[in-house]
Amino acid sequence: MPGFERFGDLEREELKDVLDNGVLMRYGFEGMRNGHWKAKTLEMELKNTLESNYVQLVSNGTSAVSVALASAGVGAGDEVIMPTFTFVASFEAILMLGAIPVLVDIDDTLGLDAKAVEDAITSKTKVVMAVQMCGSMANMNALQAVCSKHNLLLIEDACQAIGGRYNSKPLGSIGDLGCFSFDFVKTITCGEGGAVITNNKDYYINADGFSDHGHDHFGNDRGAESHPFLGYNFRISELHAAVGLAQIKRLPEFLAVQKKSYTVLRDAISKIPEVTFRTVPDGGEESYAFLNFFLPNLDSARKTIDNFKENGIDACWHYYDNNWHYVRKWDHLKEAKSLFPISQEIKDALNILSDKTFTQSDHYIGRNISCLIKLSWTTEEVKARAFKMVQSIKASI
Ligand SMILES: *Cc1c(COP(=O)(O)O)cnc(C)c1O
Repeated sequence: MPGFERFGDLEREELKDVLDNGVLMRYGFEGMRNGHWKAKTLEMELKNTLESNYVQLVSNGTSAVSVALASAGVGAGDEVIMPTFTFVASFEAILMLGAIPVLVDIDDTLGLDAKAVEDAITSKTKVVMAVQMCGSMANMNALQAVCSKHNLLLIEDACQAIGGRYNSKPLGSIGDLGCFSFDFVKTITCGEGGAVITNNKDYYINADGFSDHGHDHFGNDRGAESHPFLGYNFRISELHAAVGLAQIKRLPEFLAVQKKSYTVLRDAISKIPEVTFRTVPDGGEESYAFLNFFLPNLDSARKTIDNFKENGIDACWHYYDNNWHYVRKWDHLKEAKSLFPISQEIKDALNILSDKTFTQSDHYIGRNISCLIKLSWTTEEVKARAFKMVQSIKASI
């Protein structure tokens, strides 16, 4: 990750098809498009890759999460359980529908802790949203058991984990609905793009209409289509889909490169006795997009990241001190700083966050370092990096 590092001739060729006829929209204009349906074709490819019956492409990963929730009928006043460690998109997508984000502790998988999830369930809970952070996964068996026991939907945000697997299934395809992002820095990029996947036909039909103004997409006269329900515009363009179409064919190549570099780095730092690694649940295989490891305490993690910076080790993060991925720094959420009035119910729910502590999450995120595995590194660069990482970590403990 990210796929943009390998942008090349295949991507240019797919784009050229679109530029040659000028149909930049995914629907209609059959006469002009010379047989090119990039979004539709990418949906077919993703169905195969993600082993799911239905795929709906959308404009980005954040809208994918909103579309997934809306398609399953989740909205005003419904509580959605989400982890304290995720990208800000998780709560944005929930709040956009008037639903209530309920933040819950993670465990050593860096994903939702099933026990903490169960404790957070109320009569308003509708969904458990597992976010498969940094190429790996939460304990999905445990989360599935909680969801079936309490009759809740399980939604998977696999935006950072395409190519990872769990119990022989692609990540994203385990829950009732799965979400993907193809933004510029993800493993597969469209520039901007996203997808919702499901095996439930009704959810798919809902996602198809909801992401395009409620259009039913019957027939081939767009103007004559009816609107069985309200929708919005979360469409992807043909230009974006064309880039994704080239990239998805290269996923096996990207995953192999990631695994190779990941393994070299992991082998090197695993020789340091104080270092431990995030737990990958039984039956799981990472996408190897990131290498995540724990230092003994907050102090040594902070020192490690400082030493990394000094030694030129880029693309590693200590999320505890980071504004985007951990609850500690989400003041705009805790203070409900909205441009427009939001419901009292949501304000009350967010207010709880202002002085809530997440000791268990702090215990993991405070000690965790996440390193991106780039696709552009040479073998020599990976070796040199491994050496410098080991030096930097040893000097921090
Ligand atoms: C990137 C990301 C998103 C949002 O995707 P965009 O395409 O950037 O909107 C959502 N969730 C997670 C976990 C992500 O990493």
